[in-house]
Amino acid sequence: MTPEERLASLKERGIPTLKEASLEDWQNWRWQLKARIRHPQALGLKGLEKVIQAYPLLVTPYYLSLIRDWQGDDPIKIQALPDQRELEDFGLEDPDPLAEERLSPVARLIHRYPDRVLILTTNHCATYCRHCNRKRLWRRPLELTPDQLKGALTYISSHPEIREVILSGGDPLLLPSRRLETILASLRRIPHIEIIRIGTRIPVTLPMRVDSELLEVLKKYRPLWILTHFNHPREITAEAALACQKLLEAGLPVLNQTVLLKGVNDSETIMKDLLQGLTRIAVKPYYLFQCDPVLGVGHLRTSVFTGLKIIKALRGYLGGIAIPTFVVDLPGGRGKVPLEPDYLLAKKGNKLTFENFRGEKVIYQDPDSKE
Ligand SMILES: *Cc1c(COP(=O)(O)O)cnc(C)c1O
Repeated sequence: MTPEERLASLKERGIPTLKEASLEDWQNWRWQLKARIRHPQALGLKGLEKVIQAYPLLVTPYYLSLIRDWQGDDPIKIQALPDQRELEDFGLEDPDPLAEERLSPVARLIHRYPDRVLILTTNHCATYCRHCNRKRLWRRPLELTPDQLKGALTYISSHPEIREVILSGGDPLLLPSRRLETILASLRRIPHIEIIRIGTRIPVTLPMRVDSELLEVLKKYRPLWILTHFNHPREITAEAALACQKLLEAGLPVLNQTVLLKGVNDSETIMKDLLQGLTRIAVKPYYLFQCDPVLGVGHLRTSVFTGLKIIKALRGYLGGIAIPTFVVDLPGGRGKVPLEPDYLLAKKGNKLTFENFRGEKVIYQDPDSKE
């Protein structure tokens, strides 16, 4: 679809705020933010008041235009529009399953691993993902204040073992470019910070935001890694591909983190299309996440074994660079654990029996070792 067709398709749905919109508006990310849909009524959806009181609706016209099946279980709709089941308690969920609050030594900073910390730069997002694992923060104050930034910088400066800072949120690329630059520049002044990562869904939900002003800022602070969040092949539009291409051309590696979601991508064929599509636009699939037990997200979770089955079906049939590591983020902030299907079937002395991707059993002779 072209941008014209996207805009026209939403106008046909009679969304009030889009009536007067022009193509020029559509291409302007500030307009996209202003024209975001916040009321289910604007989409003709009823009976969702309670849900949005708990978890607001917020979606860019651009991301909304990726929906094709408005009546059925469309994968974009599942990620963007509220669902009654968000209010259900499935008995396993927690508002903060990864204990981020407990692992926060200073405001807005999470220190879980020895050499890297994560900073919550803002709560603001272009679109609220219904599967967000920080749903608990949607209604908290938005931006990292200058004092909180100072506190985080002091903490990082006094911990020389920290080599890497992950800017997360919310979406750091929604910060005003100058504010983002202040954060990046002050991190770069700390000699032991080697790597900065930015977690963002901007290429997926608001690709127009990747403009020259933003790129000028980002490319000054390399090595800077961009971690984006594509969940479905239909999200890989020409617009999204262009946003990723611009990031890559600015010298920023782009990796992707996918969340395994029921009805969105919990099938081998969809996942294959997604991963192939990502490598086609030179975005490296980094992690496939088991969906965390977050309160309000229970209806989107699948079994760990679904993820393993998908990885098993793809390994060997897709090039290795297309295959992400499947990880479970352990409760209580105990860390991410990678999972692989079992390819080592048996061990007899030095004889190891493996199963290859075709299901054939193969004996491998291990050298003698004292381990
Ligand atoms: C996921 C995460 C990281 C990064 O983990 P990697 O395995 O290096 O991608 C760091 N800190 C926190 C709190 C995280 O949740």
